[in-house]
Amino acid sequence: METILSIENLNKRFGPIHAVKNVSLEIQKGNVYGILGPNGSGKSTTLGIVLNVVNKTSGNYSWFGGTMQTHEALKKVGAIIERPNFYPYMTAKENLELVCKIKGIAYTKVHEKLELVGLLDRENSKFSTFSLGMKQRLAIASALLNDPEILILDEPTNGLDPQGIHQIRDIIKMIAAEGTTILLASHLLDEVEKVCTHVLVLRKGEVLYSGRVDGISSNEGFFELQSDDLTQLKSALSKIDAIEKCTEDNGKILAYLKKPLEAKDLNRALFEEKIILNHLVKRKHSLEEQFLELTSKS
Ligand code: ADP
Ligand code: MG
Repeated sequence: METILSIENLNKRFGPIHAVKNVSLEIQKGNVYGILGPNGSGKSTTLGIVLNVVNKTSGNYSWFGGTMQTHEALKKVGAIIERPNFYPYMTAKENLELVCKIKGIAYTKVHEKLELVGLLDRENSKFSTFSLGMKQRLAIASALLNDPEILILDEPTNGLDPQGIHQIRDIIKMIAAEGTTILLASHLLDEVEKVCTHVLVLRKGEVLYSGRVDGISSNEGFFELQSDDLTQLKSALSKIDAIEKCTEDNGKILAYLKKPLEAKDLNRALFEEKIILNHLVKRKHSLEEQFLELTSKS
């Protein structure tokens, strides 16, 4: 596996605000990473640090296995971290050709990237006539002109209408399918769920979860249980292999599973221990519930 970016124990303080706390992340080639968290959780700050526009307080990051200086490495990175800004009275094509000229890229790339983002039929329209979604698509085309190793997007669908959101997500998936690594920040769970393979969940600068997206959602769920003697119930549950841990909530026991277990099999096992349940419900957290649970605890 090829490492594109490696972040180790990164910290950022703005005076009293500890915006990024010991964040670590390994970005491997070909995956789509999401940094997910509510507003103010440190997503943009983290992206700003690795793009060398925000100074870190402590910790480290290295691009491409540390084989090159940050400013050299950043030539292989395409990033959109602010609202797209182009010359309003120039056409889409002219704006991208200007970017090519500045960066020393062949003009032939303009056609290719406009086609990729679905703006070829509007290449001769002035930027000022574009909708927000089209502006964002043009920004993506621009960031891709030099065929970067990785594309970094900060809240790529913010402010867009549902159709615009859909188009951007499709484009991101298309770019990923062509093998470009992607890192995007979003406060939208369903966005990360729909486009990312890996996720880093942040709350108040802290990493709450890091791993595969399907890793969050593929747990086996849990049981809500109640009997007259909760101590006896907990003791019996602790002997059941499929149960990872138990917690007590409002007079009920929540038994979390690490392996599949059917309600009737659990009921039978407890009955054999002479436990009569007066409440038995199997639940499975959706990714959304888990995300809310992860991010709501203070
Ligand atoms: P997110 O992108 O997840 O919404 P940010 O990274 O923008 O979060 O911000 C994280 C925290 O750092 C917030 O509390 C924010 O107010 C603070 N912050 C960000 N930039 C600055 C800055 N330039 N000066 C002071 N505080 C900042
Ligand atoms: Mg932000």
